[in-house]
Amino acid sequence: MSALSKSSLAITLTATQRNLILAEAEAAYPDECCGLLVGRGGETRNVTVSRVVPAANVAPDDPGHSVRDRFEVDPQARFDLERELRAGPDAVIGHYHSHPDHPAEPSARDLAKAFEPSLIWLITGVMSGRAENLRAFRLADGGGGFDEVVLEIADHAIPVQSPDA
Ligand SMILES: [Zn+2]
Repeated sequence: MSALSKSSLAITLTATQRNLILAEAEAAYPDECCGLLVGRGGETRNVTVSRVVPAANVAPDDPGHSVRDRFEVDPQARFDLERELRAGPDAVIGHYHSHPDHPAEPSARDLAKAFEPSLIWLITGVMSGRAENLRAFRLADGGGGFDEVVLEIADHAIPVQSPDA
C-alpha cells in the first residue's frame, strides 16, 4: 500500500477493548485473528465501539495460503450478531484482524476483499508474537485504497454492553 491519507473520521475504543484485540492477536499468532466491532455512529465522524466480538477465522486453506496470511470472519458469527443487534441502536461498524510479522496496514489482499465502504478496519501487527501498533482504516472513496482513521483510546466513560446481552 502507498499513499495512505488521513480521513477526518475518528474511532474510539476503550483501553480494555484495545487490550482484548491485542491479546487475541497474540493468542492466534502465527495465524491471523479476526473479529467484529459493534458500535454506533458509523456514518458520522466519531464512531464509538461498544463491543469487540472475537470470531473464528474461517479463511480456507488452499495452496500457498492459509490463516497465516489471510482472514475471513465467520459469516455465521456476523449473521447471528446482526440479528441480535437488529432491535437496538448499535450495529456492526467494522472488524479487526492481525498481521503476523507484517506491518499494521492494509495488504493488497485486504484491498481486494474490501467491499463495504462504511466498515472500519482495525489492523494490528504482531511481530515475533508481540502485538503492536493497532491502526484503523476505511475504504477510500472510489475503493482504490484505504484512508487511515484516527484511533482514540478512552480509559473509561464509555458504557460497555454486557457481552452476553
Ligand atoms: Zn490484512
